Amino acid sequence: MTFSDEPKRRKPISKSEWEVIKASHNYSCVICGKTEKKVGILVQAHIKANSRGGSQVLPMCATHHEMYDRGLLSAAQLKKIGLTKKSSAKLVPKQKKKETYFDGSEVV
Ligand SMILES: [Zn+2]
Repeated sequence: MTFSDEPKRRKPISKSEWEVIKASHNYSCVICGKTEKKVGILVQAHIKANSRGGSQVLPMCATHHEMYDRGLLSAAQLKKIGLTKKSSAKLVPKQKKKETYFDGSEVV
């Protein structure tokens, strides 16, 4: 049994594939550039490449992977992985919308 918080629908890549991907990014987070040694572990971020229809796996530190999954990365950060705020919004549909009152003001 493997422990993972990744949703099951995500197809795992092999360990050797992951090593190749990490090596091609110098074993560092694609967002902040911190190395695996610094951040402890790099997480597989599954980026859907809308142009090709497939998904790409990129190494990210736990912090930025979490932010990516929640759609919290800034436009500048998204640019580093070839995404825009608009395209990433499509990739993270589970992003929780802010609740609003009928007049459109945010529920705090
Ligand atoms: Zn990072």
